[in-house]
This record gives sequence, structure tokens and C-alpha cells, in this order.
Amino acid sequence: MSIGFHEKISKGEEKMQLQDIKGLGLTTIKYLNELGINNIDDLINYYPFRYEIIENTELKNIKDKEKIIIGGIIENIPSVFHFNRKLNKMTFHLNTKTFITNVTIFNRAFLKSKLKIGTAVTVIGKYDQKHNTITASDIKFGLLEKPLIEPIYHSSFKISSSKISKIISLALNKITITNFLPESIINKYHFIAKEKAVKIAHNPQNKEQLKKALELLKYEELFMYMLKINYLKNAKKIDNGITRNVPYEKIENFIKKLPFELTKDQLISVKDIYNDLTQNKTMNRLLQGDVGSGKTIVSFLSLYINYLGGYQGALMAPTEILALQHYQNFQKLFPNIKAALLTGKLTAKEKKETKKLIENGDANIIIGTHALISEDVTYHNLGLVITDEQHRFGVAQRGNLKNKGKTPDILYMSATPIPRTYALTLYGDMDISSIRSMPKGRKPVKTYVKTNKQIKDVLYMMLDQIKAHHQIYVIAPLIEESEKIDLENISKLKEKMTKAFGKICHIGVMHGKMKDEEKEKIMNDFKQNKIQILISTTVIEVGVDVANATMIVIFDSFRFGLSALHQLRGRVGRNDLESYCILISDKETKRLEILTKTNDGFKVSEEDFKLRGGGDIFGLRQSGDMNFKIANIKNDYDILLKAKEDANRFLKSGEYNLEKYSYLKKQIITSTNLD
Ligand code: ADP
Ligand code: MG
Repeated sequence: MSIGFHEKISKGEEKMQLQDIKGLGLTTIKYLNELGINNIDDLINYYPFRYEIIENTELKNIKDKEKIIIGGIIENIPSVFHFNRKLNKMTFHLNTKTFITNVTIFNRAFLKSKLKIGTAVTVIGKYDQKHNTITASDIKFGLLEKPLIEPIYHSSFKISSSKISKIISLALNKITITNFLPESIINKYHFIAKEKAVKIAHNPQNKEQLKKALELLKYEELFMYMLKINYLKNAKKIDNGITRNVPYEKIENFIKKLPFELTKDQLISVKDIYNDLTQNKTMNRLLQGDVGSGKTIVSFLSLYINYLGGYQGALMAPTEILALQHYQNFQKLFPNIKAALLTGKLTAKEKKETKKLIENGDANIIIGTHALISEDVTYHNLGLVITDEQHRFGVAQRGNLKNKGKTPDILYMSATPIPRTYALTLYGDMDISSIRSMPKGRKPVKTYVKTNKQIKDVLYMMLDQIKAHHQIYVIAPLIEESEKIDLENISKLKEKMTKAFGKICHIGVMHGKMKDEEKEKIMNDFKQNKIQILISTTVIEVGVDVANATMIVIFDSFRFGLSALHQLRGRVGRNDLESYCILISDKETKRLEILTKTNDGFKVSEEDFKLRGGGDIFGLRQSGDMNFKIANIKNDYDILLKAKEDANRFLKSGEYNLEKYSYLKKQIITSTNLD
């Protein structure tokens, strides 16, 4: 029996809860929740994003002010100084056999009773030759016989990586781990047991073992992904979709009246969508095109076709600003079609009225944020569902909108172009339209690579823009491992910019830790030119149109993939003003030079793939269904291809339908369940 896409599927037994781990307090659970860890499954699947190899620094490699890892014997009773209740400093002498050095460590006073004379410890820190002192960041008991591999988890201010590691160890003893791979596959690759692999990934003893564990876990995740894609593909092939009787001339006539001429690719995309919408097979299409390539008008025309066919259409944008932007533009273009805006911002009364319009069919086009999918919104006859910047939404969110209609057609829009071959693998369950050609008259963004030493040049270039009354984005380097450093970087940049430009313009700051309302306020101030320089992490929204912004300056740009940089660059050059992108970097300048040579997002992403064996094709954030727990499309593309081939063979062979794999089927159905 095949199971329909929107049939309700039971979720199976309740998941084990975090409370079931002994000694885990409510506060800690709250901190884990903030990291997206809501149950034991989430916890076990919260894999380290990298591993730190800790091995003794060889004597000849000990250099001033550089990292050092060295073992020795404690020579004297450590002395502790308390600055205040929270801050303390401990010092002692360490005899490393070859030399005696001072060790200083902060906030470890609690270790004092264990650090006796003669205790063997390994100290990790920075060595200062002049003062013959190691300022330690960590102390481990015992000497290192062999290298240690320390898992590093994404952490937060509130909960550290090592705390997460400890909690995971506790959890690992509590649960049974299910293997999903069929035997034939396990045998083919001589994979180690899943349970063992999970334990190793969280607590590796050596490199070889870790490599084997990661091989299995990544493969399994990607194999499951391919089965899911296949399931979705088949489930979506519903032959009783909506047909619409709309002559194409009507669309053509409208296109003729537009203030600009559509590009060839825009026309082809509209035609693709028209064909889908007028046939009974449900549409499940991805519209991909570079930032500024004009996807919005294509989505509006799709809504128009759907409207002429007699159905409601909904367009969901990831933010209030984008939703409002779309709503206003739609009304300008189609003053005679009744459109409604539904966002979280409306007053209760406004919401109620809008929902009524939607329910009784008085609103034909509904544009909004994820408010569109709240439970109490009932649509009259939803025929077309569009999500803008699709990678920003999770599977469940998109599914919810779809489930608001009977068999609505679906269009996803994405500004992250992917080379066709990759797209076919990753979005194998969708049809794809691509807009490659840019609208006429668009000037390419002039792109320069500069080093930190050339910062003065950059400041002068910025000054020119400010004098011309234009606006500038400044992007702070992004170090995902530490929010703290990210914030520090932002405030340093703010200082720098204020020093240079504080007297002549307004400078605003925006970062991921800010509340949505705060971010929106800053973004609106920038839109209205109340702020001329906007310093930000990469949270600036894809899709926001600030025509007067003509320059983007990206610090430490080597930290980004080319595609991500290209996306950021797309914030400027959205009209006929000359605009600039300045990539500041002391490293990898050769790679960055690629961006100075092309403005074509497809080319950039192809180069990215070539260079990094994957590239960050999903742009700045990975979310939704591409949010892999352990596999990384950038680095594991080869594994994905293998998994794809194996999955297809497995499905074809009929093995999948055997009773013994019913657990696998169940898992696939549950995990794609768009409830
Ligand atoms: P994106 O694909 O990033 O969503 P938009 O749809 O926001 O891009 O389009 C960017 C800008 O280009 C908009 O101001 C839009 O009106 C304009 N535009 C779209 N198509 C064309 C075209 N064929 N010719 C000229 N301008 C266009
Ligand atoms: Mg857009």
C-alpha cells in the first residue's frame, strides 16, 4: 500500500525525554532547548562540528606566544588569588623534564585540592617566552600517552561544549540506537555497527576509529535522505490536481503592459509554471535564480494565472519586511485583484478581519509570513502556494501551508543557484526552473579584494559613497563557533566605523542575538536612510531591496564560501547605480579573486563546487530539509552520490518492500510527515 502524502501518520511511541537523564536540571534543559535540542534523539544526533586533536607539542616546535600542549609534574603548592566571587587566578610551577615553567590559569580554583605536588598534568595554553609562563586554557590530569581527540560542539554563552559532551555521554548509556541501513549496504562497505559509531563520534579514542564512525553515520544520513526524496517524489505525483482553464494570451497581454521587458528565462519560467498549473498533475517546482534576477514578478504572474483559474493563492515570505514589500508591489501591479497581508504584526482586530476575508474567499491573494500557516487560518479554496527564499523554511512549515489546500500546486523560490547536476540530486523530488539571465541595464557589481593593510583605501572608497549620499553595508566576520567572539567583532567594527564616519553619518548595528523586532527596526531605519552604514553579521535579509545601498564591505571574507559572498554581494547593485563589493581578507585572496571576474551566480557556485568539493550551495544558512546532522554537503558530496545510487538500486530491487524493512519505511514516512 502506498501512503498518500497528507494522510496522517502516527508518530510512533513517545520520544524519550531529556528529563529522563539523571541529574539534568530544568535550567540546563532550557539551555539545551535553546540549541534546538528537545529530546534525547536530538541530543544524540547533536554531533560535534569539529574535533580538536590534543597532542604534546614537540620541544623544537615550542614558539613564543603560540599554542602549547605539554605534560609535567607539579613542583609547588598552587597559589590562588581571588579577585572577586567569580574571578580567580591560580599559579604553579610545572616541571616538564626539560624545563620548568610557570603556569597561570583563571577560574579553576576549585581544582586546587587535586593539584598536589607531584601530580602529573597536561597543560594546554599559550607560551610566553619572556616571562617563561604558560597561560593555560585547560588542564588535564595525567600525561598524554597518545593524542586525545576532543569533540567540539556548537555551544552558547550558557552551556559549554564540554558540558554538552558530558550530557551526551550520560544519555548514550540510556538509550538503544537504531540502525537504519539494510544489511546489503552494511556488508558492501564493511560499515561498523551504528551504536558503536555513535559512541565513537561523541567520544573518539583515535583517528582511524573516528574516520570509520563518521563514514557510517554520514552515509546513513545521506542514504535516508535519498529514500526520503524518493518517497516525496512519488507521494507528490498526484494525478487529481487542479486544472485551470486560462488562455495564455491573457498572461501575454499582461506581460506586455509591464514597465519592463521580461528576460528570456523569466518568460520560460512563466511558461513552465503555466503548463503545470493548467495540467492536472500537481506542480512541485523550484524556481531558482540569482539575487535580483526577478523571481518576484514570475511568482506574481503565477498568482495571476491561478487567480484567473478561480483559486486563491498564497505567498509566504520569511520576514515581515519581505512580506510587506511583496504585498505593496503586488497591489501596485494588480490594483484590481483583492490582496490581503497577513503577518504577526497586525493587531488582533486586523488579524480577525483578514482571516475572515481569507475564509470567505474575499481575499484572492494572501501574502504574509508564517502567520499564513497558523492553525486558525482557513482558506476558501487555496490553489497555489509559493514560498519565497525556500531554504529559510523547514519542511514542516512549508508542508503546513500546502496542507491548507486540497491539492494545491507548489512553487518554491530560492536565490541560491545550484548547478543543475547537484540540483537534480538534492532537489530530486522537484521540477526546476532557472533564471540565469539578469534584467537589462543591470550593472555588474564592481568587486575588489583588499587586505587589512589596505583598509585606508577602503575607508576612502566608503567616504566617496557617503558623500554621494549612498548607503553601505559592512559585514563582520562570522565565527560560528563562538557567539561571544562574533559580538566582540561587531563592536570592534562599530568603533572603527564610528571613528572614521561617526561625525558625518549614522551607523547602525544588527546581529543574530537581537530580537526580531529590533532587527526589523534597524532594517527599516536603513531602508528609510535614517542609517547610512549598517554593520551586521550575515543576518541581513536575502531579498531586501535597498536601492540606495551601493557598497558592501565584507571583513575576513575568506571565512565565507564564494556562493555566500555572492549572495551578500547581491544586497547591492539592484538598479542602475554603480555599486561596489569590497572583500577584505589576508588569506585565500586567489579564491576570492573569482568574484572579481564574474557576477553570474551559477558560475560562482560551479567554481565553488570545483574548489571546495561542494561549496556552500545553501547560502548563508542551512535549514529546512537540508539541515543535516552530521553529513555536510560541502565535503561529503561523494558520499551523497554513492548513497543516491545505492538507494535507487535498493528501491528498484524491491528489497525495500520486504517485511524486515518495515521499520525503515516507517522511519521515512514519519520523518517526512508534514503534520
Ligand atoms: P529576486 O529574484 O532577487 O527576488 P526581484 O524579483 O526582487 O529579484 O527583482 C529585483 C528588481 O528587478 C526588482 O526591482 C524588479 O522590479 C526588477 N526586475 C525584475 N525583472 C525585471 C526585468 N525583466 N527587467 C528590469 N527589471 C526587472
Ligand atoms: Mg526575492
